[in-house]
Amino acid sequence: MHFSSLDKAKSSLEPKQAYFPLEFFDELSQAKTLGELLHSTSFWINQIFHSDRVSVTMQQDPNYLSLFAITGNKAIPIDRPIPIENTMVGSVFSQEKLAICNDTSTETLLDCQWLAEGGMMSCMDAPLKSEGKCYGTINIAHHDKGHFSEQDARVLSSLVSWIASQIRVQKQVVKMETLANIDTLTGILNRRAFIEATKLINNKPRAFDKNHALLIIDIDNFKSLNDEYGHLGGDEVLMAMARKIQSLKRKDDVFARIGGEEFVLLLGDISEQDSLHLAEKYRQAIEDMTVLFNKKKLKCTVSIGVSSPKPNDINFRDIIARADTALYNAKKSGRNQVARWIKGD
Ligand code: GH3
Ligand code: MG
Ligand code: MG
Repeated sequence: MHFSSLDKAKSSLEPKQAYFPLEFFDELSQAKTLGELLHSTSFWINQIFHSDRVSVTMQQDPNYLSLFAITGNKAIPIDRPIPIENTMVGSVFSQEKLAICNDTSTETLLDCQWLAEGGMMSCMDAPLKSEGKCYGTINIAHHDKGHFSEQDARVLSSLVSWIASQIRVQKQVVKMETLANIDTLTGILNRRAFIEATKLINNKPRAFDKNHALLIIDIDNFKSLNDEYGHLGGDEVLMAMARKIQSLKRKDDVFARIGGEEFVLLLGDISEQDSLHLAEKYRQAIEDMTVLFNKKKLKCTVSIGVSSPKPNDINFRDIIARADTALYNAKKSGRNQVARWIKGD
C-alpha cells in the first residue's frame, strides 16, 4: 500500500490549529439514536475538513463494513458492502490506524478505485475506537490530489476518539433499553414494554380506533402443573408457550409476558371477528403442544379474553379491563376457550 500512516511523520507536525464548531459538540451529545449521531458526524466532519465526501462505516460481520452515513459525493453508494480485505478502509479498521491516500488513481485497493472513478482523488480514513473496541471508520475524501496533510490527520485523530466514545455510550444505552424491555425467562417483551406500546396508542387515539384488538392469554390451572412437575417444569412450559405464540404471531403484533403465567397479544389492523379467529388458532396450538421435561410429556391449555376499542374509551386501560372480564368469563365457563367481551358483562 502506498498511503502514508500517521506514525511516520509525527515529529514534523505543525502546531495544532483545531477548529471544532460548537454545534458539533451539541448535536453529538444530544443525538438520540446511533443514526442521528452518525449523520451529524458525517455532516460536521465534512465542514471541518472542507472536504467533498465524508462517510461513516460500521462493522456488519467479520468480512464486511457497511456505510451508515454519507455527506457529499456518492462515489461509493450507501448500500454497497465494503469488504475488509483489499480495501484501504478495511485495513484502517483491522489495523486500527489512521491512513491517508493522496492519489487514489494509483491505488489498486477497491475503495480507492471507486473513489477515483467518482472523482475523489485523495482520502483519509480513521478508526472509530473506544476502550479497546473498534466500531468502524470515518472516511474523508477530496477531489484534489494531495489534499490531506499530517496536520489534518492530527485533527481527525483527536476527533475520532471522542466520536467513538459517543458511539460506545449510545450502543450501551440501546443495549440497556433492550434488556429492560425483555422478560428474562421467555425472552419476549415484558410488562414494561407492553405498557410503553400502549402509551404510544394512547398518544394517538384516532389512529387506533376500531383497528386494534387485545388478547389476554392465561395458562389454565398452572398452579397444579407447578405442584405436579415443580417450578422448573412450569418454567419449561412458560418458555415453550412463549416460543409457540411468538412463532405464530404476525410480525407487527406486540406479544408480552405481563405476569407469572399471563401473556398479552396486541393485534393491529384487525377486525374483531378476525381477532377471535386468531385467538382460537393460538388456543388450539397450545392445546396441541407437548413439552418434554425430565422425560415426561407436559401438556397445558390456555384461556383467552379478547376485546377491541369502543368509541367511548378514554384510555387503553378500558380495553385491558374488558379483556380481563372476558378472560374471567372464559375461566368461569370451563377454561381452554376464547371469550370476547359482550356488552353488559
Ligand atoms: P387459572 O386457570 O384460574 O388461571 O389457575 P392458575 O393456577 O393458572 O392461576 P393462579 O393465579 O392460581 O396461579 C398461577 C401460578 O403461576 C402460581 C405461581 O406459582 C405460578 N407462577 C408465576 N410465575 C411463575 C414462573 O415464573 N414460573 C413458574 N414455574 N410458575 C410461576
Ligand atoms: Mg392461570
Ligand atoms: Mg393468571
